Amino acid sequence: MKKILIVLILTISSLSFSQEGKFKLVLDAGHGGKDPGANKNGCVEKEIALDVVLQIGELLKNYSDFDVKYTRTTDVFIPLRDRAKIANDFGANLFVSIHCNSSVSPNPSGSMTLVMGLSRSNMNFEIAKTENAVIFQEDDYKKNYKGFDPNNPSTQIGLKILQEETLLQSIEFASEIQNQFKNTLTRKDLGMHQQPLWVLDATVMPGVLIELGFLSNYKESKYLNSKEGRQNFAQVIALAILKYKNQLLGTETPLFEPKVLTPIIIEETKPEIVPIVDTVKTIPLDVQPQVDDQKKYRVQIGYSTTKLDLVPANFKGLLNVTMKQEGNAYKYFYGNASSAEECKKLLAEAKTKGFNTAFMVEDKE
Ligand SMILES: [Zn+2]
Repeated sequence: MKKILIVLILTISSLSFSQEGKFKLVLDAGHGGKDPGANKNGCVEKEIALDVVLQIGELLKNYSDFDVKYTRTTDVFIPLRDRAKIANDFGANLFVSIHCNSSVSPNPSGSMTLVMGLSRSNMNFEIAKTENAVIFQEDDYKKNYKGFDPNNPSTQIGLKILQEETLLQSIEFASEIQNQFKNTLTRKDLGMHQQPLWVLDATVMPGVLIELGFLSNYKESKYLNSKEGRQNFAQVIALAILKYKNQLLGTETPLFEPKVLTPIIIEETKPEIVPIVDTVKTIPLDVQPQVDDQKKYRVQIGYSTTKLDLVPANFKGLLNVTMKQEGNAYKYFYGNASSAEECKKLLAEAKTKGFNTAFMVEDKE
């Protein structure tokens, strides 16, 4: 989420539907181009946001009563004001912006949905600050944002008092999204929040900003980066949009049953016990040096609380993977070598495949 922007705006006016009676939805993939957003654990916010947004659009494209517009469909930088303009010019009924969160600590996890509003809580202001900070990456930001300083809440001159009704609609929508995350996807629920975001004068539609999860959290970042995880999020957000529209307009657009998939997440381990294989041993002279042909070495590539099938597809193509259960977790090893030298080659191979934190272990069994 950092350095990104969002443009959410809430709305006031009554919903104006096009003559064809279509529900106009603007899908906004956060960040893009020179602004990658959060970038942690090899997972990039702008890429995840775009993929999820495009998948939501694909799902809703099947509905003839929806008219979907994207702020971007490729990896390009879109200034905040342009995102708002796209929504305004389109006459959108709903604005949905997709982001990923990030923290300096690897611990926080969970999904939250932000509704534009006038909140002064520090936590929300911190998020607003980072999401609004993208303004500084735009040329002429001083002119274009009329002195708005994302770092100073007192200068948020663009904020409007929202009509209660519009705010309630956005809150209702945000609650449904969180409900889907929690109950359908069993993601950690960080709830619905209000936050002050840059609001352009003329923008008048309900809007939410969804923080899918934390890229700074290893496990969550892998979920967000997985094909299955992204597909899961896209499905339930599309479903929440359908429900919101039906409830708001009293329509009966058919819903669909989301197919929740479980991504395979291999957590790479931190080195615990790294055998010192190059140490010169002092052997007493009266002891016959013995060939240590009993030792076996393996490369530990990761662990998971999920028991994985030992097929190459689950381990980035590596063959000959073995597993050992320890408590509730499973350790995964690559190869089987009778010398440390031989094992070093296996280690290099595992790293080439992407297991960057793999390490050698002595097989004591
Ligand atoms: Zn973001």
